[in-house]
Amino acid sequence: MAEFSTPTTEHEFAENFAQLKPLMNRTEALYESARCLFCFDAPCIQACPSGIDIPQFIRQINSGNDTGAARTIYAANYFGNACGKVCPTEVLCEGACVYNLQEVKPIEIGRLQSYATTKAIQENKKLFAPGADNGRRVAIIGAGPAGISCACELRSLGYEVDVFEAQAQPSGLTVYGVAPYKITNEETLAEMAYLQAQLGYSVQYNSPISSREQLAELEAQYDAIFLGIGLGETNELGLPGEDKINCTGAVEFIAELRQRHHEIKVGRRVIVLGGGNTAMDAASESARLGAEDVVLAYRRGKEEMGAYEFEYDLAKGVGVKGLFNVAPLEIVGEDYVTGVRFIRTETAGGRVREIAGSEFELPCDMVIKATGQAKRAGFMSLIPGLETDGKGRIVADAVTGQTTNPKYFASGDARNGGAEVVNATAEAKLAARGIHAFLSK
Ligand SMILES: Cc1cc2nc3c(=O)[nH]c(=O)nc-3n(C[C@H](O)[C@H](O)[C@H](O)COP(=O)(O)OP(=O)(O)OC[C@H]3O[C@@H](n4cnc5c(N)ncnc54)[C@H](O)[C@@H]3O)c2cc1C
Ligand code: SF4
Repeated sequence: MAEFSTPTTEHEFAENFAQLKPLMNRTEALYESARCLFCFDAPCIQACPSGIDIPQFIRQINSGNDTGAARTIYAANYFGNACGKVCPTEVLCEGACVYNLQEVKPIEIGRLQSYATTKAIQENKKLFAPGADNGRRVAIIGAGPAGISCACELRSLGYEVDVFEAQAQPSGLTVYGVAPYKITNEETLAEMAYLQAQLGYSVQYNSPISSREQLAELEAQYDAIFLGIGLGETNELGLPGEDKINCTGAVEFIAELRQRHHEIKVGRRVIVLGGGNTAMDAASESARLGAEDVVLAYRRGKEEMGAYEFEYDLAKGVGVKGLFNVAPLEIVGEDYVTGVRFIRTETAGGRVREIAGSEFELPCDMVIKATGQAKRAGFMSLIPGLETDGKGRIVADAVTGQTTNPKYFASGDARNGGAEVVNATAEAKLAARGIHAFLSK
């Protein structure tokens, strides 16, 4: 394999993790926007969870009104710049573009979106303003896409908003989880600074809310509380040897990668356990960090993987090998990981069955578990009357986001169980309006 040598400098890291959707220049943007058919009842809009008026902003770019284009995008989606880069456009707007029906390359909507919004951010265009002060205060727990979108919308409605964030930076998994070849830290944080400067909410970093006393204080001081807490750490597999050195969770591995870039170490032979998008990301990232051999091991067949096809193609494109119908039995090694003992499986009637006597061991020096994120059950149990469903998701009204404790509202991963940035931002905007409707009664 070894398509990538291990990056030792920031420059080499940027080369290995070159942007999949690089920024367009003006000529490219004009050329691409000219291809749009400005469809009536455009399917690309229907496919966008935040309902951006796509033909409208493309037309604005084409007529040289880049600021107007950014305004159109941001009117629907506060993460307009990030979403242009991180959204799975292949299965959303671009996947719905009418050009696909004629087997012509769809319009590069994501890149056009990033083009217009990047310009607005870089030129510090004034696109937002807080609404007239209505004398009410809302506390937001979590500065991810859900929390920040809710903060922006509430500020535009005239609320005073304080955000409490456990980490040192805003945007949640956009800066701690999404693959670095989709968006850079600088791009993510520039959009966050742009929004905050114009809308004026406060964010207290390194401030986890973790006790009943803290929550009681917020309940006393604020008219409503929004939960944008996302999901937690990687789920444990419950396998022997899971505690060995170099056996790590994908979410933890990627969070470190996003913050430390080339300074993190990857194994020479890596086994990634899982078949979802996070597994694809962790495998691609290991390869780009210079791992010589990366195997993606999944307990079902290739067609049954939860990951988008284009994400698997991306991983294969950097040399990752798929190993299907295998279930891990044990992480092998003394102190350090030296391999994984697997058993072969078959799927019958949707159920996975282990094939007796088919055990084998695959050597490696690093295991990355991409086995889903746990829910923040401990935190949720601190809120009186807050109900969760059978999957540990916060129960809340589908439109207003109001939970079973009327003072609390929730959106994003904590409520939908884990989706995309665009879902969190779109749902949280609705929840902000739900808070407004509740407090305006
Ligand atoms: C590895 C990985 C890759 C992904 N890649 C993509 C992608 O390419 N494209 C895409 O669209 N989506 C992607 N996603 C999904 C996307 O990142 C999430 O759907 C989105 O970030 C959810 O937003 P959120 O605000 O609900 O939660 P989060 O982004 O998780 O934000 C929650 C925030 O709340 C904070 N918090 C939690 N509890 C507390 C507390 N008690 N006190 C204070 N703060 C707290 C957390 O620190 C965090 O900052 C990916 C997810 C993962 C795990
Ligand atoms: S579907 Fe494609 S061609 Fe039609 S408006 Fe949307 S981007 Fe333009």
